[in-house]
Amino acid sequence: MIGTNTPLKTLAATTAKNFQKRSGKIASWIAAAPGRVNLIGEHTDYNDGFVFPMALERYTVIAAAPNGSNKIILTSSTAEGAATIDLSKPIKRGEPSWANYVKGVIVGFQRLGCKIPGFDAHIESTVPLGGGVSSSAALEVATATLLEAITKKKLTQVQKGLIAQKAEHEFALMPCGIMDQFISVMGKADHVLLLDCQTTKTKQVPMKSKSVAILVINTNVKHELTGSEYPDRRRQCEAAAKALGVKSLRSCTLADVNAAPSKLTNIEFRRARHVVTEIERTITAAKAFASGNWKLAGDLMYASHGSLRGDYEVSCPELDDVVEIAHGIGLKGGVYGCRMTGGGFGGCCVALVESSQVKAIAAKIAQAYKARTKITPSLFVSRPSQGATLIKG
Ligand code: ADP
Ligand code: MG
Repeated sequence: MIGTNTPLKTLAATTAKNFQKRSGKIASWIAAAPGRVNLIGEHTDYNDGFVFPMALERYTVIAAAPNGSNKIILTSSTAEGAATIDLSKPIKRGEPSWANYVKGVIVGFQRLGCKIPGFDAHIESTVPLGGGVSSSAALEVATATLLEAITKKKLTQVQKGLIAQKAEHEFALMPCGIMDQFISVMGKADHVLLLDCQTTKTKQVPMKSKSVAILVINTNVKHELTGSEYPDRRRQCEAAAKALGVKSLRSCTLADVNAAPSKLTNIEFRRARHVVTEIERTITAAKAFASGNWKLAGDLMYASHGSLRGDYEVSCPELDDVVEIAHGIGLKGGVYGCRMTGGGFGGCCVALVESSQVKAIAAKIAQAYKARTKITPSLFVSRPSQGATLIKG
């Protein structure tokens, strides 16, 4: 029922073996970076708020060796055929699309004046692709970590996160915030990252007790709506901030929003209320995690979901089903809290659960969800894990 997490060492060994099979070379460098899940703080990043992600025990690994040419030959276990990147001319985005994430990071290093030599590389991953746990950031950050070893250019964590983010903007045309790349770089075992999107300041918040774990439940639905949901939300937040006379909603309290309903349309009022309360919840949740107050942390997760569903209107029946089922299992069954995570309209829920009961909880959620929706969900459990690492090189 519940997916297992291949240990990083094992995944690295498999990657090296498959690299050798495909290229005939022994890997000179092996680099890894994790996927992530955001525990609380949703749709707060573009409002200069806080987010609270952790690195998953799910990794993307790249093994590589020099090939003496001016080309990079890339393969991935998830893709047919090889992608070739010609280093003798300016690198442009193109087909195959999966290689764009790698290309974008290479260009980032070239802009720093690094000379990239030709190499062969192979990619393996246990991060689900397109499942809302940021396989794209894992691929970018693993690439950046590999290139640090190849070029001997050591970046700061922030520089590395920003290069990976820029790759996603320019080469995948995804105008994402900084969360995914930062946590993939900065993840730390037994810690969750409190990230201030206004200042890019970070704080490692301990989640030491092994008695709790994070369960990720992928609804395996993705509702294609009009496509304007995300820009609409951003615009509504900007309009609300303008009407309230502030640069971003980060500068407002709930009291400010409540005192100004006449300045806002009903929709702007509800969007703003979600953002200001979510920022508050995220700060409180970080304290609850640090002190091991799991009941409070869980309650904040439920409250976050309610606000995303009601005020922000980015949930969907399947996400609501998972949260309702988890809530039904409740504290007695070992569930502290559950909420949708990610942009919404499908994708994943995240739950805070008792480690000792995780198997039973996963089985119950999967069964009840299937009974309600006829859809088989995917589930996996994780503790907060380490960020990008160089395994060989
Ligand atoms: P998410 O980041 O939520 O997993 P995205 O759509 O942002 O979803 O990124 C998924 C895309 O990233 C894939 O379609 C593929 O192009 C690329 N990708 C991620 N991991 C790999 C991998 N291991 N091998 C090849 N491509 C990958
Ligand atoms: Mg992504």
